[in-house]
Amino acid sequence: MNLLKRNLDKSEYYWNKAQQLIPAGTQCLSKGPTQFVNGVAPKYVVRGEGCYTWDVDGNKYIDCGMGLHPVILGYHYPAVDQAIKKQLDDGITFTLMHPYEVELSELLCEIIPCAEMVRFGKNGSDVTSCAVRLARAYTGRDMIACCGYHGWQDWYVATTERNIGVPDSVKELTKTFGYNDLGSLEKLFDHYPGKIAAVIMEAVSVEAPQDDFLAEVKKLVHKNSALLIFDEVVTGCRFALGGAQELFGVTPDLATFGKAMANGMPLSAIVGKREFMQLLEEVFFSFTFGGEVLSLAASIATINEIREKNVLDFVWRQGDKLQQGYNALAKTYGLETVTECVGYHPRTIVDFRGKTPQDSLILKSIFQQEMIKRGVLFTAYNALSYSHKDKEIDLILNATDESMKILKKALESQQPQDMLEGEPVSDVFRQT
Ligand code: PMP
Repeated sequence: MNLLKRNLDKSEYYWNKAQQLIPAGTQCLSKGPTQFVNGVAPKYVVRGEGCYTWDVDGNKYIDCGMGLHPVILGYHYPAVDQAIKKQLDDGITFTLMHPYEVELSELLCEIIPCAEMVRFGKNGSDVTSCAVRLARAYTGRDMIACCGYHGWQDWYVATTERNIGVPDSVKELTKTFGYNDLGSLEKLFDHYPGKIAAVIMEAVSVEAPQDDFLAEVKKLVHKNSALLIFDEVVTGCRFALGGAQELFGVTPDLATFGKAMANGMPLSAIVGKREFMQLLEEVFFSFTFGGEVLSLAASIATINEIREKNVLDFVWRQGDKLQQGYNALAKTYGLETVTECVGYHPRTIVDFRGKTPQDSLILKSIFQQEMIKRGVLFTAYNALSYSHKDKEIDLILNATDESMKILKKALESQQPQDMLEGEPVSDVFRQT
């Protein structure tokens, strides 16, 4: 496999300017240089087509992140782009509502088991926050129990290490529990009787639910007269059209969707049972770009395309091939204790296990560096799309083969960090 002949001049030019203009340099930490080997990875992209992206210097990569999960069909996907362009001719945001609000709500009620009513947001954080406020209003309680990542708002960030700016009084109101650890949730309900308004959780992330975990959580939550909210921002329209609740047959009271529902356009939704959702007539959730029409048009086209083309079956199959191929190569190189591709096929995670957390980041960085040099924008998770055909899976696996060979050499050298041609990546900010 040939190494790409690349320069990163324009990426570095913009990055130098950005550091003076943009605090943290980026709009989203997961897209910033802390997650990509500085000096080796491109920093700015300007175009996407299918599952390929081009950086600002014109270098072409297979994209494994697909915009941090949303681009489930592919970049520049005809059916979605046509829907956006058609609407663009007629306008983007209006002074009154648009019929697509109703059409998309109807569609979501068809595909999502818990959905009887719908409201739209732009980011996942909009709708997880809406769900939390709604649950507080419905129950008259203040506390929240959460499990997973839920966005940038006070009530969630309070539980993380990056919580400066969040008042202590808010920090006291959110408690976390462990996935597959019903006991940890029981303890919260015992410790704060009559105080917890809702349990919000990623119904599934990497680990599979054990011993009917989701159904048991639901029982426990309802026994304590709280609401169950599934955060399906990643799983919705990716693991199944109706999300993890469809996959596992456990229906929550409320759910939040985002990311893949509009193939990259900024749209999210809170959906749920009428009994709870109706209270949004009183709970304040209202903003200028709510109901922005290009995103609604994109979402209708995306969902129809996913249904018609059986897109998610395909994404599961491709994810399976990639995961199996990765783990087989790790075994071939005797690296199966060092690296493993884990999780569900529509979104797998690649783990690196060094002797220390810092070692693990060095190993991940070396691997990423080698993948990028071979034209694969590797991010340590694979959010595959309908555009990752067999050819691209083979290309990713060829790059994996060569990159693992180098990783093995690096490990044998005892000084793996010497193989790095840039600065190693940092930990992902994502407390779960
Ligand atoms: N919930 C989950 C499960 C997420 O993964 C994310 C974003 N990664 C969010 C909520 C927040 O979504 P956003 O970044 O669009 O606000």
